[in-house]
Amino acid sequence: MIRSRDLRRITRSLRFRLTVGYALFFCVMLIGVGAIFRQKLAASLDAQIRDALDQEWAGLRGYLRIEIENNKTKALWYYDREQPDESFFIQRLQRIYYIADAEGHVLSDEQGNLQTSEAYESIGHDSPAQIAAVLNSKGPHWEVRKSSKGVPYLIRSGAVYDEDNKRPFFVAIGRSLADNQGILYQFTWTYVAVIPVVLLSGCFLGWFLAARALTPVLEVAQAANRISGSNLSLRIPSRGAGDELDYLIATFNRMIQRLESSFDQIRQFSTDVSHELRTPITAIRGQLEVALFTTSTAEQYREAILNALQDIERLSQIVRALLLLSQAESGQLALQRTRLNLSELVADVVDQFQIPYEEAGVRLTADLNACFAEVDRIQIERMISNLLSNAMKFTPAGGEVRVRLRAAPEGLELMVEDTGCGIPGDHLPHIFDRFYRVPGRDSAGRERGLGLGLSFVYWIAKAHGGSVRVESVLEKGSRFIVLLPASSSITSTTEPPGVEVPSGMNEL
Ligand code: ADP
Repeated sequence: MIRSRDLRRITRSLRFRLTVGYALFFCVMLIGVGAIFRQKLAASLDAQIRDALDQEWAGLRGYLRIEIENNKTKALWYYDREQPDESFFIQRLQRIYYIADAEGHVLSDEQGNLQTSEAYESIGHDSPAQIAAVLNSKGPHWEVRKSSKGVPYLIRSGAVYDEDNKRPFFVAIGRSLADNQGILYQFTWTYVAVIPVVLLSGCFLGWFLAARALTPVLEVAQAANRISGSNLSLRIPSRGAGDELDYLIATFNRMIQRLESSFDQIRQFSTDVSHELRTPITAIRGQLEVALFTTSTAEQYREAILNALQDIERLSQIVRALLLLSQAESGQLALQRTRLNLSELVADVVDQFQIPYEEAGVRLTADLNACFAEVDRIQIERMISNLLSNAMKFTPAGGEVRVRLRAAPEGLELMVEDTGCGIPGDHLPHIFDRFYRVPGRDSAGRERGLGLGLSFVYWIAKAHGGSVRVESVLEKGSRFIVLLPASSSITSTTEPPGVEVPSGMNEL
């Protein structure tokens, strides 16, 4: 026995719903097709019977004469009684017929036989008013009338003139519609009896086809179920049919691929973060332990605390930068856009860097064309600062850094070019990654960077709907090119309202 839970599961299944849908569609189609066929059949039977009556009427005009002699009107039939065809035709015609004058008096023939048939009598005579209406109308008159026994007849009536073509007489012939009705009745009931059989077979077929179509879906679902966070390298095997399901599998696999790379990034990020945090924490711990066990003078304590504070400052810089970056990348950081002259903004930042550059012995020049854009001032300042401080850090004294801003066909192009140490080709694809630093660059008397500055540059360019790329030749210099959409065409990747950028973090 099926339990109600199982029943609910079955009725909710796609297979069941597909089958029911298929059956309903089939049912509507069958009824519709049946109704159309029945109507066509009825129309064709009707046309056939009207055709036959038209032919009989034409024959009747050839054989019937109405003569008026000495004020007596007679309907006379002229045909060869020896001829079976003619006799049969007239007999058939006279099965349902009625010949009367305009007042409704039935005519008789030479032998005095009234020109009406038993069948016609059973459907009733036409009234003088009806006769007058028929005689006055030009064409034939058609009518369906029922006999006293309920048999329907199709009656064709019209006017036939006497020999002198003076007086019109009312003539009606007819045929029983019982046969036609019988055919329609038989058709309808046969069809109605066939519908459940066809419908049932349709349901079985639907149930079977739905199962066939859905089995691969279940297989895909089972395969997808086996994939978890720990085995994201698994893929759902393609069936090679090139159908919609293979497309779904490919989409699934691409999604898992993206998930896998996100998981890898997160894993890498946690490793990097713990590594980055461990270094200053170990340093602080070492300094404090040394201070605790070996220092004796207040001066030595002071120096140890100062060193520890420097490392703590670095720690909090990392934490702040990470927080900001994760907010930015998760879309929580909303851009505060305003339309402004980008050249003025760049010039301001360049001015701020003139003194540090002088101290470093590096020439800083700017070639700025007036360009307007809708940008977040603070973020763009941060981006230029990062690029300029990197350029200064990695350009030896006597070198030069050039900043250029111009409107290019692809958008507004901001370029920061230096004559510094350059970046080795194999490191170029990674320098926008978080915590990525070209190895061996920190020791050369430079302040150790966090490896986050270019990640910010990348995110800021992207959030403004732009891009950043780098070209570099080792020992010759590097060129960072940022492309921003010109004015109004900016699309941001940071839609939801989010955290305001905390001030004082522009130095990152
Ligand atoms: P950092 O805080 O180390 O500067 P960034 O993300 O800004 O972090 O830069 C990542 C790495 O890219 C740097 O450590 C450096 O090795 C390299 N780099 C960035 N800008 C330049 C440049 N102008 N010239 C040479 N190397 C650079």
